[in-house]
Amino acid sequence: MNFDYTPKVNMLLDKLGKFMETHIYPFEQEYSHWVEQPENAWQVHPSMEKLKAAAREAGLWNLFLPEEYGELSPGLTNLEYAPLAEMMGRVPWSSEVFNCNAPDTGNMEVLAKYGTPEQQARWLRPLMEGKIRSAFLMTEPEVASSDATNIRTSIVRDGDEYVINGRKWWSSGAMHPHCEVYIVMGKTDPHAPRHSQQSMIIVPARTAGVEVIRPLSVFGTYDSPFGHAEVNLNNVRVPASNLLLGEGRGFEIAQGRLGPGRIHHCMRLVGMAQRALELMCQRVASRTAFGRKISDFSSIRQDIARSRCEIEQARLLTLSAADKIDRYGIKGAKDLIAMIKIVAPSMTQRVTDRAMQAFGGMGLSGDTPLASFFAAARVIRLADGPDEVHMYQLGRNTVKQYLQQADLAV
Ligand SMILES: Cc1cc2nc3c(=O)[nH]c(=O)nc-3n(C[C@H](O)[C@H](O)[C@H](O)COP(=O)(O)OP(=O)(O)OC[C@H]3O[C@@H](n4cnc5c(N)ncnc54)[C@H](O)[C@@H]3O)c2cc1C
Repeated sequence: MNFDYTPKVNMLLDKLGKFMETHIYPFEQEYSHWVEQPENAWQVHPSMEKLKAAAREAGLWNLFLPEEYGELSPGLTNLEYAPLAEMMGRVPWSSEVFNCNAPDTGNMEVLAKYGTPEQQARWLRPLMEGKIRSAFLMTEPEVASSDATNIRTSIVRDGDEYVINGRKWWSSGAMHPHCEVYIVMGKTDPHAPRHSQQSMIIVPARTAGVEVIRPLSVFGTYDSPFGHAEVNLNNVRVPASNLLLGEGRGFEIAQGRLGPGRIHHCMRLVGMAQRALELMCQRVASRTAFGRKISDFSSIRQDIARSRCEIEQARLLTLSAADKIDRYGIKGAKDLIAMIKIVAPSMTQRVTDRAMQAFGGMGLSGDTPLASFFAAARVIRLADGPDEVHMYQLGRNTVKQYLQQADLAV
């Protein structure tokens, strides 16, 4: 495997690095402080649209959409995108500046892959231009949603419309003032075989019957302006043409949606961990305790060495998964995708935990990004499906694979 960056990637990395130095890092503290103020809740920072325009102008826009999408894509493979997403992960909110943020990226991919020309003109185009935002509504409070066959929301055909009833929560992005569209998962046929009951449908956010009940907090904060909403869908009517791909095809779409999108999180998590390690090294080299530089204590050096090894391991696994997706598609890469989803969030949680400890009290404050990295890593261990579910599936596939080999050997 050769993971050397191509000239195109080196050029983009250089450009992105300069953009981060000029526009993002100097503004990082102010942005974080601004979004946390209660009076700014659910508002977009006044500089965000200017930053987006500058990123677009610089050619740092929609880099996430892989080359297989033809003219919609800026032409990168998943492998090429990985180091760029890693760099964006160093300041997680910056991915919106480049129109590369979740959940919009996953939703854009769904619309690019499965949308009709009409659906694409209505929703994909404004999303790709960064004019609107979106949310993905799958999880429900009443059922264990890590098993998506449990999802209960009903989607019932009535003439040339569908009528939707159900309650969703953890709908990330649904609080954003520019959120105009949801992709909703629900059952069109509760009597069909288990994996053919679910469908996905486009629901404009302002449709009658859509009620955003409340934002959920995560570790005491609301993630404004995106937020994670609880949403009631009460006799919501949309045209039948809003259905994606066809009745009973929800799982098929979910497979397509959740592959590359989840690896994007892993790419960004590697960036967070890398930055945490850099900050940790700078801090421990600049302070003295008990007559020694903190960096000279052996326990601190072990923490640094361990972190560096773990980051590089996760980085290589991320690249390997991205490369396999490029060459064999989501199905062919499913085990590597599961592996990195298991590895990257816990790795970042451990590395940022060590960095916070080495910083002392400051590490837990808002004066460094470490506490927010720690929270983000912890969140991803659930938000993209619990760790245990990835392990459950990877374990099953692994047993199956080695059983097949044993059969062949007999
Ligand atoms: C910040 C945040 C953002 C989110 N964003 C979105 C979003 O945008 N859209 C959306 O639809 N959802 C979103 N989610 C929801 C997330 O996908 C679900 O919380 C997750 O899939 C788990 O579902 P659940 O909460 O119903 O937990 P449950 O399904 O009830 O699972 C609870 C626990 O049971 C255990 N468990 C389950 N299955 C197994 C197994 N096979 N083996 C061992 N243990 C198991 C695990 O410990 C698991 O955490 C978000 C969640 C968070 C916290």
